[in-house]
Amino acid sequence: MASHIVGYPRMGPKRELKFALESFWDGKSTAEDLEKVATDLRASIWKQMADAGIKYIPSNTFSYYDQVLDTTAMLGAVPERYSWTGGEIGFDTYFSMARGNATVPAMEMTKWFDTNYHFIVPELGPNTKFSYASHKAVNEYKEAKALGVDTVPVLVGPVSYLLLSKPAKGVEKGFPLLSLLSSILPVYKEVIAELKAAGASWIQFDEPTLVLDLDSDKLAAFSAAYAELESVLSGLNVLVETYFADVPAESYKTLTSLSSVTAYGFDLVRGTQTLGLVTSAGFPAGKYLFAGVVDGRNIWADDLATSLSTLQSLEAVVGKDKLVVSTSCSLMHTAVDLVNETKLDSEIKSWLAFAAQKVVEVDALAKALAGQKDEAYFAANAAAQASRKSSPRVTNEEVQKAAAALKGSDHRRGTNVSARLDAQQKKLNLPILPTTTIGSFPQTVELRRVRREYKAKKISEEEYVTAIKEEINKVVKLQEELDIDVLVHGEPERNDMVEYFGEQLSGFAFTANGWVQSYGSRCVKPPIIYGDVSRPNPMTVFWSKTAQSMTSRPMKGMLTGPVTILNWSFVRNDQPRFETCYQIALAIKKEVEDLEAGGIQVIQIDEAALREGLPLRKAEHAFYLDWAVHSFRITNCEIQDTTQIHTHMCYSNFNDIIHSIIDMDADVITIENSRSDEKLLSVFREGVKYGAGIGPGVYDIHSPRIPSAEEIADRIDKMLAVLDTNILWVNPDCGLKTRKYTEVKPALTNMVSAAKLIRTQL
Ligand code: GLN
Ligand code: ZN
Repeated sequence: MASHIVGYPRMGPKRELKFALESFWDGKSTAEDLEKVATDLRASIWKQMADAGIKYIPSNTFSYYDQVLDTTAMLGAVPERYSWTGGEIGFDTYFSMARGNATVPAMEMTKWFDTNYHFIVPELGPNTKFSYASHKAVNEYKEAKALGVDTVPVLVGPVSYLLLSKPAKGVEKGFPLLSLLSSILPVYKEVIAELKAAGASWIQFDEPTLVLDLDSDKLAAFSAAYAELESVLSGLNVLVETYFADVPAESYKTLTSLSSVTAYGFDLVRGTQTLGLVTSAGFPAGKYLFAGVVDGRNIWADDLATSLSTLQSLEAVVGKDKLVVSTSCSLMHTAVDLVNETKLDSEIKSWLAFAAQKVVEVDALAKALAGQKDEAYFAANAAAQASRKSSPRVTNEEVQKAAAALKGSDHRRGTNVSARLDAQQKKLNLPILPTTTIGSFPQTVELRRVRREYKAKKISEEEYVTAIKEEINKVVKLQEELDIDVLVHGEPERNDMVEYFGEQLSGFAFTANGWVQSYGSRCVKPPIIYGDVSRPNPMTVFWSKTAQSMTSRPMKGMLTGPVTILNWSFVRNDQPRFETCYQIALAIKKEVEDLEAGGIQVIQIDEAALREGLPLRKAEHAFYLDWAVHSFRITNCEIQDTTQIHTHMCYSNFNDIIHSIIDMDADVITIENSRSDEKLLSVFREGVKYGAGIGPGVYDIHSPRIPSAEEIADRIDKMLAVLDTNILWVNPDCGLKTRKYTEVKPALTNMVSAAKLIRTQL
C-alpha cells in the first residue's frame, strides 16, 4: 500500500508566498520574514501529506521562483552578467536572475511544456563553469526530517535540464547543450552523496522531456547520464518521473532499461497510451511503477472506481508490492484547496478536488488497492460522479444538438479574403497603412475601484454605467485626437479577457481562491467550464454600440475567441476538448452576429492562446489545429463580406503553424513582433500570398520605453520591404492595459506620425 505525490503548489492556499515575495521585493519586509513564510508553508504541506497517509512525500518542490532556476543555482550556472562571485547563491543573485535588477535584465522565461507555468531558461555554453552553489535540496530534506517527515527529494533531471536550456548570448545557436552533461553530473553526484549522507533512501528525478519526440542522440544521453550516476545512486531507490503525456515507445524502451533506476513514474491521465505500453511492452521485473492516475492538471474529483480498476490491471503486470499510486504530474498545476471556496455551491463543489483533496484521493486509492477500501468515501465519490453525469446544469440538449450539427461542414465565408477586403474598404474608406490598437487602454486604479464596487453592489448599475461610459468617451476622444483610424473602446469594463466572457456564458463557474502559479509570484485563476456552454444574452453589444455612437470612425467590436477561452480555463473532462470548444464557438458566433446587426463593421476576435494549446507531440498537432482553426471560423462564417474580422495573437513564433493561421481566414491579423523579426519574414511572405491584412506590432508594449517616430517609421519601412503596402496595418504589438497614459500617449502619437510620414513617401 503505497502512495506518492509528484509535487505540490508552493504559493499557499491564500497565495501567502506571493504576498511575502512581493513585499520582500518592495523592500517592505526582510529576508527573514520571507524565509519564515516559506518555512511555514513547507512545514504545513509536509504535515498535510503525512497526516493524509502519503508514503512518498516530495521535498524540494517548493521554490522561491522556479524549480529550473533552482537547478541553475544548484549547478552554479549563473550567467556572467549577474557578477556572481561564488559561494552559496543568495536571494540577491537568485532574484536578479529571475527578475533582473537595476542594471541587468532578467533571464528569459518560457512556457513549461503545454502548461501555463513559465520557467527560467538556463543560458549555457562551452565556458559555463559549474559548481555546487545551492544546497536547497539537501536543506529541505533535512528540514522535513527534523519535522519527522522522511521525504523523497526531487531534482530536475540532468538531461531534461540541458534539453530545456538554451545557448548563452554569444554562443553559437547550434551549440550541443547535451555535451555539457559530463560537466553537470559531478555537481549532481555531490548533491546525491549529500542527500544519502543526510539519510535519504529515495530520490526523484523529474525528466518530463521524455514525453517529447526525442531522437536517438537525446535518448542516448539518458542512458549515458544514468549510467554515469550509477555508482553514487547505488543504495538509493531512484525514481525517474515523467508527465504531461505518455512516453513514446522507443523512449519507453530506453527508460525502462536504465539499470541505476528502480522506479518509473508515468502520467496515466494525459498519457492515454501509457497503460497499453506497460501491459504490451512489459515492465522490468522488480522495479516500481508510480502510476499517475489522479489528474494534476485539472480540478475535477477523480473517478475513483475507474482509477481503481486501472490500478488493478497494472498490479497484474508489475506486482502488488511494486505499484505506487500517484498523481499524473505535480499538483502545482491545479488549485490549492477547495476548503477556501465559499462562493461555489455544494453541488459543483462535490464534483471538484483541488491539490489538498487530490492528496486524499491518492491515499484512498492506495488503501483500497491494499484491501482497506474506505467504502463510505468511495460511495460518496461515486454519488458525486453520478450527479455530475446526470445534472441538468451540465447538459443542455439544444447546445449538444447544435454542436453535433457542426460536423461535416467547414464553415468558411463564401468569398475569398481579397474580395472581402475590397468590399470592406468601400465602406470603411481607410487610408493606406491604417492605424489601430489591440483593444485595451490603461486600466487605472479608479477604474478597478469602480468595477470592484459594482461587483460588490456598493454602487448602482446606473453609477457603474455612467462611469464606464465616461471612460469609453475619454478613450474615444483620445484616439480621435491622436488621429487613429480604427478605434477601440478600451475594454474598461473587463477585468480579464476570459473571465469577462465566462461570467456571462452559462456552463462556467468561478472560484474565490483557485489560483495557479503562472510564473514567479504571478498566479492566474482560471474559470471552470463544467457544463454545456451557451450565451443567454449579448455580452459586449451594449458597450460596443455605445462606443460607436461616440464617433464617426469605425469602432472595433472586441471579443475573445473560443480557443483562447478554452485554453485559459479548467476544462471539463467528460467530453473531448474540441466539443467544448465548438460550443464556445457557437456562443461567440451569436455575439459576432449581434455586433454586426448592431452596426459594428469591424470585429476583432482575439486568439491569444491558440498556439499554446498545441499538443506536445507533433503527431497530434494536425488534429488540434484542425478543430481549433475550425472553431475560430465558426464564429464568423455567416457574416457579410463588408464586415471586417480581425484576430490578434500574442506571439510571432508561428512559422510551424502559419498554414493554420492562414486557414483561420481572418481579414486582418495583428501579431506580436518585438522579438523575432527574422522568423517573421517568412510569415510575411506567406501573408503576401494570402492577401489578408497584417499588423505586426510596430512597437513593444511590454516595456515602458517610448519608441520614437523615427524608430517606428524605420520598422514600418523594413516591413514594407517584404509586404505590399495595401495589406500592412500599423499597431502596437498587444493591448495597452498594463501601461500608463504617460507612456501610451507619446507612444501612440509617434506611431501615428510614423504612419503618416511613410504614407507621404509612398
Ligand atoms: N484585446 C486584448 C487587449 O487588448 C488582447 C489582449 C491579449 O492579446 N492578451 O487587452
Ligand atoms: Zn496580445
